[in-house]
Amino acid sequence: MVGVPLYVDEAVVLRTHKLGEADRIITLLTRHHGRVRAVAKGVRRTTSRFGARLEPCSYVELQLAVGRSLDVITQAEIRRPYAEAMYADYGRYTTAAAMLETAERLTVEEREPATQHFLLLVAALRSLAEGAHDPSLILDSYLLRSLAVAGYAPSFDACARCGTGGPHRAFAVAAGGMICADCRPAGVAMPAPETVGLLAALLTGEWEVADTSMDRHRREATGLVSAYLQWHLERGLRSLPHVERFEPEIRVRVSEDEHHDHELHDHEHHDDEHEEHHERHDGASHDTGRGVISR
Ligand SMILES: [Zn+2]
Repeated sequence: MVGVPLYVDEAVVLRTHKLGEADRIITLLTRHHGRVRAVAKGVRRTTSRFGARLEPCSYVELQLAVGRSLDVITQAEIRRPYAEAMYADYGRYTTAAAMLETAERLTVEEREPATQHFLLLVAALRSLAEGAHDPSLILDSYLLRSLAVAGYAPSFDACARCGTGGPHRAFAVAAGGMICADCRPAGVAMPAPETVGLLAALLTGEWEVADTSMDRHRREATGLVSAYLQWHLERGLRSLPHVERFEPEIRVRVSEDEHHDHELHDHEHHDDEHEEHHERHDGASHDTGRGVISR
């Protein structure tokens, strides 16, 4: 390896998949280099020095060698053992899986610096590992904030279309948040004012408000966050249906043939297979009988 340029960085492991007999490709969200896919050689051998350190959710310090196509991980040290905390609890695990997948989806370009996404993910994983708040609240806060970092901050006060000061009563996914009576299209959600307050608190990190919210407002907020996220991602997040939360008002539709395995490893990309999951929730929502999303 003489003469091969090396670099160090911190990263969260987003995903891994097999490569050849003993290697893995590790998808990382790094602090300084954005999303990076790198090869970890020999990690599937039982004698591997750092195989176990490169599990999804692991927060690691890495040394990498610049490769011709993919960089090669030459050293890995655990910085925080978040993976252990997640694997010990199914609710945390599925919540973390949804976060990792969102982080990957929202960092569209490989190697484009995404330090804010990295910091947001690390903070959310820490909060989840420490049990700082209800996992569902941590996830919704993470989703809203990462959408904001990606440039899709929803408005929970002023009208998202014309800017007229709030509070307004209607939430329109496609318009980007709360919307005034003049701008209101057909088929918008009419959430409770407490739900809108909760959403705003989750976006800005006012945990004293979020932690004391009522279950029905949390459920309603989760439905709106899911719809909003899907609108922007244009196709369903694979991990969200597995998240053990309140019965969601809006479910991500999963095709019949899709395997509900909970493996974070080794799943392959089927990038063109989920086109049928495109679903616009604005005005096409499920009637749950709870009046969360009006038709
Ligand atoms: Zn308006």
